[in-house]
Amino acid sequence: MDYNSKLAELQREGNYRQLSSVTPQGKWVLSGNNTLLNLSSNDYLGLANDPELRRDFEDWVGEEVYPLSAGSSRLLVGNYPVHRLVEGQVGRLFGREGCLVFGSGYHANVGILPALVDRGALVLADRFVHASIIDGIRLGGARYVRYRHQDYDQVEGILAREASRYSRIFIVTESLFSMDGDITDLPRLVALKRQYPHVMLYVDEAHAFGCRGARGLGIAEEQGCLQEIDLLVGTFGKALASMGAFVVCSSLLRAYLINRARPFIFSTALPPYQMAWTSFLLDRLESWGDRRAHLSRLSHLLAHALHGEQPSAQVSHIVPWILGDNASCIQASQRLCEAGYYCLPIRTPTVPAGTARIRFSLSAAMREADLFNLLSLLKTTSYADR
Ligand SMILES: *Cc1c(COP(=O)(O)O)cnc(C)c1O
Repeated sequence: MDYNSKLAELQREGNYRQLSSVTPQGKWVLSGNNTLLNLSSNDYLGLANDPELRRDFEDWVGEEVYPLSAGSSRLLVGNYPVHRLVEGQVGRLFGREGCLVFGSGYHANVGILPALVDRGALVLADRFVHASIIDGIRLGGARYVRYRHQDYDQVEGILAREASRYSRIFIVTESLFSMDGDITDLPRLVALKRQYPHVMLYVDEAHAFGCRGARGLGIAEEQGCLQEIDLLVGTFGKALASMGAFVVCSSLLRAYLINRARPFIFSTALPPYQMAWTSFLLDRLESWGDRRAHLSRLSHLLAHALHGEQPSAQVSHIVPWILGDNASCIQASQRLCEAGYYCLPIRTPTVPAGTARIRFSLSAAMREADLFNLLSLLKTTSYADR
């Protein structure tokens, strides 16, 4: 392979990636002499740079010494009391017996399916699931079908025709999709899987954990089906403003993953200090209903300005503005930057051809006034997709 010409090709397609030189600071990013509102972060609750929270954490830690490295994998000598504490907290929050922490959501998703599938399994995955899930499916080597985005009838049809041919079937979806911000009908999938004893439901709540549901547990909580999800994955790296991820499941599946999930077995455990921060945040998660309500208000303002959308549970803090081709997307992103808004273009092939977009992601740290200019800009722009 000729790396130079491959990179040149990416440049021609508008797909060349580069690390940015902006510095995040609270809800802003600093770019040269400019300060822009950060509309590209996953810090949805605005916790990552809250100085008061940080001081409270330092008080909470007190004289306790939490190492900055775990020194080995959990299965060797890296299993500290604080790892067990966090798993207990998450298990209690979700009312489930099994919880296992992974190094990141990426580790979890590339580890879980390869551990659980065998040659007799079938994986049914929403076409828009995250790259980490796709990688997990490929590593697992089972037969898989990527069904049309949120097309539950298609899932139903496949199950009706093919369920009896497989020893086990996994339905895999996100609950709040990372590029479209739309919400999955989990009760519909639960009703489908209940018809077959060998179908399991695997839900990635990466963008919903912390933000949705009265207690902040995500869409399964909001839709009242927490106990029905066989494998529920959440990350600590987004709304929770930490690092790492978890799966909640039965204690049988937990024991199985400890024995078979390679990213869990063969990677250094998260630093105890990081786990202490996660534990401190988890203790407070349920109390942040005001932050979640504020985030929801901002989301409705933006969704209304862009799409005329009325308030509904379908609206989320991820609001896409679909522009079509990569070039117009890059241009719109530059114009928004000039107006003081930092929002990165999401291009093909990250999203399907013809749907390149600006993906606005909101944070509870923002005030309504921070968005006023953006809202009027979007209402008047010739690009608006109405
Ligand atoms: C970000 C993301 C992940 C990865 O989580 P990390 O903890 O950042 O590795 C997994 N799934 C989805 C849907 C995501 O958006």
